[in-house]
Amino acid sequence: MKKCRECGLPIYGRSDKRFCDDGCRNAFHNRRAQGINRELQGTHRKLLRNFRLLQDYESSGINRVRLEELLRQGFDPESCTGLKTAKIRGKRRRSFWSKKTGGTGRYRLIYTLAFRVEKGVVLISSFGS
Ligand SMILES: [Zn+2]
Repeated sequence: MKKCRECGLPIYGRSDKRFCDDGCRNAFHNRRAQGINRELQGTHRKLLRNFRLLQDYESSGINRVRLEELLRQGFDPESCTGLKTAKIRGKRRRSFWSKKTGGTGRYRLIYTLAFRVEKGVVLISSFGS
C-alpha cells in the first residue's frame, strides 16, 4: 500500500498518486519551496555580508585586513562568487590585481571585489579596475 508523502496515510485509487489529496500535495510542495528559498537566502546573505565588509575597507583605501578582524565581523572566506588566477606576467595582472595587494596567484571574487587570504591577512582589491 502506497503512503501519502505528506501525511503518511495510505493512498487509495490511481497507482501513480503520491498524495492523498490536493491539500497534502500543496503542503508538500510549499514546504519544499520554502526550504530551497531559505537555503538560497542564507547563501545570499553570506555573500552580501562578505561584500559589504570588504567594500567598507576597500572604499576607505584599506586593502589589507587581518583575517581575524574580518572573521569577528562575520566574514566567511569560503563564500565567494567566483575564482580567478592572476597572470604571472604581462599588463593584465596589474589591471586585475594591483601591485600593492600582492600580485599573482589564485584569488576569490565577490561581486566586484577580489580577495585573497595570505598568512592570516586578507588582501582586497576591486576587480577589473
Ligand atoms: Zn496526505
